[in-house]
Amino acid sequence: MPRHAYGMEFDQWQSWVRDAGLPMWRGGQIFSALQRRRPGAWSELTELPRSIRGRLEAAFSLAWPATARRHVSRDGTVRYLLDFSGGTARTPEKNQAEAVYLPDEVFDDAGRALRQRATFCISSQIGCAVNCQFCLTALLGLERSLDAGEIVAQVQFLLAAHEIRPGDDRVNLVFMGMGEPFLNYDAVLRAVRILCHPRGAGLAPRRITISTSGIVDKIRRYGDEPVRPRLAVSLNAPNDELRAKLMPLHRGQGGLAALMAAAREYPLAARERLTFEYVLLARVNDEIAHARELAALLAGLRAKVNLIAWNAGPELGWHTPSSARVTAFQSELRRHGVAAYIRRPRGQDIFAACGQLKRHEDAVQT
Ligand code: SAH
Ligand code: SF4
Repeated sequence: MPRHAYGMEFDQWQSWVRDAGLPMWRGGQIFSALQRRRPGAWSELTELPRSIRGRLEAAFSLAWPATARRHVSRDGTVRYLLDFSGGTARTPEKNQAEAVYLPDEVFDDAGRALRQRATFCISSQIGCAVNCQFCLTALLGLERSLDAGEIVAQVQFLLAAHEIRPGDDRVNLVFMGMGEPFLNYDAVLRAVRILCHPRGAGLAPRRITISTSGIVDKIRRYGDEPVRPRLAVSLNAPNDELRAKLMPLHRGQGGLAALMAAAREYPLAARERLTFEYVLLARVNDEIAHARELAALLAGLRAKVNLIAWNAGPELGWHTPSSARVTAFQSELRRHGVAAYIRRPRGQDIFAACGQLKRHEDAVQT
């Protein structure tokens, strides 16, 4: 299959045009045209000589992901199941991943809407190998990783579907869909460089968050990346025993000692904070004693905690804590000086909330 054109970095286009005997500036021209105009066919790039268009056509695919399903939530969230098979695969479910559009509203103190934009939640893999016991995506296992072109295509698809022009700096992007981004590190980082390039879609690293379940060597490597979005670590438990029970990868990664050492040594930029995510499971990890243990673990770190009450999945046997328990957990963290926020669930009625992305579910109304 030809390589996807969206997955080519700016300097890769420059090398390609040089090898084709063309001036370097043609590389930037191709990159910008792709990321800003999203042509459906190479013939649309009439600014290029016809002979180059023919060579591009032979070497690169411009295939657009097909919408296999689309669900719209009461709260405006739209969840897409995107098909990357180009219509060729016999088993489409092996080539489908989800991308979610979450409209944001920012209000002033008087309750007036100040501005409205969106968060895009995208996938890095089809399924996931990490097997967290509270996550619906885990039930799929890992089908495959997405390549950089497929990751970029999700963002371009959402920009187009919601008529947001490339370069609109109010778009936030989170790698919190299907998959573990740091188990597909190279493709994810390449996609980030493409999306953040000033001649491309114009996203800003400070408006992108990569969420990891805790792949320790990649957290360390990520700290040194020249283009580095924000980092969120899914902690979910304040001690080794509980974390190993909820997240089977935990011990193989060296336990909390290794994870917290990487977090403490992470080179934060000025005013940057690490984010820790903590899914609250009733009577499992949501006791006040757990909040105290968590506060001690995070003491001295420039960090904040996002608390997410577990979003139910019918196949999984956990329980969602009451809002009183969630608030009590937050208050205990705050009492110990930890910045803690409660994440409002979005798109719950269409299973688009955190950890609910999964292809096959009959309960959903479209
Ligand atoms: N694989 C990455 C990113 C995707 S999951 C990671 O685990 O960080 C995004 C977030 O959703 C993670 O913090 C995860 O802990 C959380 N999550 C998973 N299942 C959930 C569920 N059923 N309810 C609430 N949050 C969940
Ligand atoms: Fe994978 Fe994240 Fe789900 Fe764990 S929570 S199974 S790492 S997607």
